[in-house]
Amino acid sequence: MRIAVVGGGPAGLYFAILWKKRHPGALVRVFEQNPPDATFGFGVVFSDRALEFLREDDPETHDLITPEMETWHDMTLVHRARR
Ligand SMILES: Cc1cc2nc3c(=O)[nH]c(=O)nc-3n(C[C@H](O)[C@H](O)[C@H](O)COP(=O)(O)OP(=O)(O)OC[C@H]3O[C@@H](n4cnc5c(N)ncnc54)[C@H](O)[C@@H]3O)c2cc1C
Repeated sequence: MRIAVVGGGPAGLYFAILWKKRHPGALVRVFEQNPPDATFGFGVVFSDRALEFLREDDPETHDLITPEMETWHDMTLVHRARR
């Protein structure tokens, strides 16, 4: 089975990982138009809860990405003057 994934963003990369895990014999290729490490200054935020889900469902990926993450504990959501 040959799978072509167009786009190496979070969705494309994680889909490729999950597909390869489920179908180890498949040839999975990710095609990305931009050079490696081009992120244009944005990232993906995980809540603690989301990270817990990932750890429960996919501990291997969790353990690979968490050492690369930045953590903030001082964020406050303010909506109409209410914290
Ligand atoms: C300015 C900005 C700030 C953001 N800040 C945050 C944040 O702080 N926290 C957060 O959680 N989320 C943030 N986001 C949102 C987050 O980046 C997106 O939710 C996430 O990147 C979506 O992932 P994706 O894989 O669906 O799409 P994308 O990340 O858009 O990935 C799609 C990929 O496909 C590639 N592609 C498209 N067409 C082709 C083609 N024809 N051939 C080859 N490659 C192709 C693109 O180059 C791209 O790399 C931000 C987004 C922006 C724009």
